Amino acid sequence: MKYQYTNEFRHNLVEWFNNEKRDLPWRRTADPYKIWVSEVMLQQTRVDTVIPYYNRFLEKYPTIQDLAYAPQEELLKMWEGLGYYSRARNLQAGVKEVVEKYDAVVPDNRHDISKLKGVGPYTAGAILSIAYQKPEHAVDGNVMRVLSRVLHIEDDIAVPKTRKVFEEAVEMLIDEEHPGDFNQALMDLGAMICTPTSPKCLLCPVRDYCIAFSEGDTDKLPVKSKKVKTKKVQFKVFAARDHQGRYLLEKRPSEGLLADMWQFPMIEVTENSISEDTFQQNYNVEITAIIDKELLKFKHIFSHLTWEMDCMLVGVEQNMVLHENVKFLSVEQIKSLPMPVPMLKILNVLN
Ligand code: SF4
Repeated sequence: MKYQYTNEFRHNLVEWFNNEKRDLPWRRTADPYKIWVSEVMLQQTRVDTVIPYYNRFLEKYPTIQDLAYAPQEELLKMWEGLGYYSRARNLQAGVKEVVEKYDAVVPDNRHDISKLKGVGPYTAGAILSIAYQKPEHAVDGNVMRVLSRVLHIEDDIAVPKTRKVFEEAVEMLIDEEHPGDFNQALMDLGAMICTPTSPKCLLCPVRDYCIAFSEGDTDKLPVKSKKVKTKKVQFKVFAARDHQGRYLLEKRPSEGLLADMWQFPMIEVTENSISEDTFQQNYNVEITAIIDKELLKFKHIFSHLTWEMDCMLVGVEQNMVLHENVKFLSVEQIKSLPMPVPMLKILNVLN
């Protein structure tokens, strides 16, 4: 890859970062554990949302040992609302490995750190460069967007192997003396100036060294092929209340989407079945009253999937012994359980 402005680009970018950087809690530390927590939280979640979670999380788990041995249900409760709960479980598994295998010191090389659970090439590079000042690449969507424009890279960023092209680009450009600042500057430039649509080129510190700007085709980059459509699944959700005012809750399986989180019973709506009947059979209960047929209707969008939720409030009686992982609980008890966002919405209506 040939680029004639490496020094100028690097200098302007890092200088801009030092003048303009946002004051974020994880920028006041060089502790690799804390930077790791922030990077995991920031995956797929906005900075403003992450800040209060990050502060609460580190108050609860100030050291790597605190997190390594925290009860999982408590951990999921701390993560509640952030979504992508496997991130929390993987973070804890990775942290535990550091405590047990590396004497609680986060590895400072890509080989070892990349073997930790949940630590992908981006997170590894972010921790190594920000906490340990190693000149390592940390390529995320923001970085790919910025560099596709600056260097006029036309490879399709939706194709996984394209990441390699951008990793090499960062290796070529990185400021060896300030690698952490350099990587964070690229991310910030992508978030604040070189945005997906209408980049603010007139405010950009590297405009003079940006090939897409000089060629006038910033709107054509990055090249990204269309995503496949997300799948839609319809559910009837039962807020099922017994005569003591308790609600029926179940714990999701330990594997897969929203593993180990608690939810109101959900029945997938299919053409050939009646959701109410399936609900009664599956949960060993009998519906004695329909209190509100249209309690709440909403969509919940995951990255690959949309849940269309139609929730009703019913009175029920227990027929037989409930299955394991299914319980009648008071609203107070439910509040202490980790629940995904769509279930919290329903709980709010009931409360
Ligand atoms: S000049 Fe425009 S397109 Fe180029 S890096 Fe700056 S904001 Fe992005």
